[in-house]
Amino acid sequence: MTPDFETQLRAVSLRVTRPRLAVLSVLRDHPHVDTDTVIALVRADQPTVSHQAVYDVLRALTDAGLVRRIRPAGATARYESRVGDNHHHVVCRSCGAIADVDCAVGDAPCLTASDDHGFVVDEAEVVYWGTCPGCATERTSQQSAGSEGNR
Ligand SMILES: [Zn+2]
Ligand SMILES: [Zn+2]
Ligand SMILES: [Zn+2]
Repeated sequence: MTPDFETQLRAVSLRVTRPRLAVLSVLRDHPHVDTDTVIALVRADQPTVSHQAVYDVLRALTDAGLVRRIRPAGATARYESRVGDNHHHVVCRSCGAIADVDCAVGDAPCLTASDDHGFVVDEAEVVYWGTCPGCATERTSQQSAGSEGNR
């Protein structure tokens, strides 16, 4: 049914299990979700999978490099299955919505630090902060409602 997930798991020597397939498919359909959301979505489909099992799967997949964990400052950890391209994220200060942002130039230029001090760099954490379109619209409509003076 999901041969690409099975191939991915086998490629990193992980056994193919239903919870692992479920987590990978949840992350494909819902990028940048936190642990609780992953648990809820997996259990909506497979109620017998325990919370702990989902935690374990997330850790195993992250360790194996199939899943990337991102942690914007002050936010809970989010997970996504788009890995290996060092893409960045834009985060809404208001509601926490997250979207992908490709590296500004070329392939993954942020991995080429101007001076790496001898470190082997494998990730550049670049987070753009701002206000998402939904929150921006809400703010504008609240302001106009306020100026009309309704109580
Ligand atoms: Zn927002
Ligand atoms: Zn992403
Ligand atoms: Zn970049």
